Amino acid sequence: MTAICPGSFDPITNGHIDLIRRTLRFADQVIVAICHNVYKKSHFTPNEREQLIWEALETEEGFTEKDLERIEIRVFSGLLADFFSECSADVIVRGVRSAIEYEHDIAQALANQRLNPRLETVFIPAEPGYAFLSSSIVKEIAAFGGDIHGMVPQCVAAALYRT
Ligand code: ADP
Repeated sequence: MTAICPGSFDPITNGHIDLIRRTLRFADQVIVAICHNVYKKSHFTPNEREQLIWEALETEEGFTEKDLERIEIRVFSGLLADFFSECSADVIVRGVRSAIEYEHDIAQALANQRLNPRLETVFIPAEPGYAFLSSSIVKEIAAFGGDIHGMVPQCVAAALYRT
């Protein structure tokens, strides 16, 4: 089974990493799909986001070689429903941190299913310790010099303090 974990990953946080790790438990292949939206302002370029994800997974979070072989990172733009078909994927996985996020994502899931009736979305509740965590919160804390230890991998913290 191939699962797609789509998102902005601007940048990857420990919450994303937890979601990827848990997806690996039930999927054979996980495609981390970085959404490149030209109309949305991002802090890191898609390439930088991809580099940070690899570095985080390879060096910091204890993923085994075998796990890494089952992970693919891709940048996509356009409709997720089309990307899903292109990858011959089986499910889309989304993390749920709050009722508000669920409300937004359920509408998205229904729209995607309308576009592609084969497309199923699986929702995974966020690890409670990470439920507060988002890329934007991390960027905001880092911008004011706050402590983001434990929220993002080391390479991401370094990149945020550099930029
Ligand atoms: P998007 O803009 O598509 O929501 P994000 O990068 O914010 O992109 O999130 C990508 C995916 O990762 C989403 O499914 C989101 O719910 C999930 N996610 C983000 N942060 C966390 C977290 N702290 N815990 C669990 N899942 C998370």
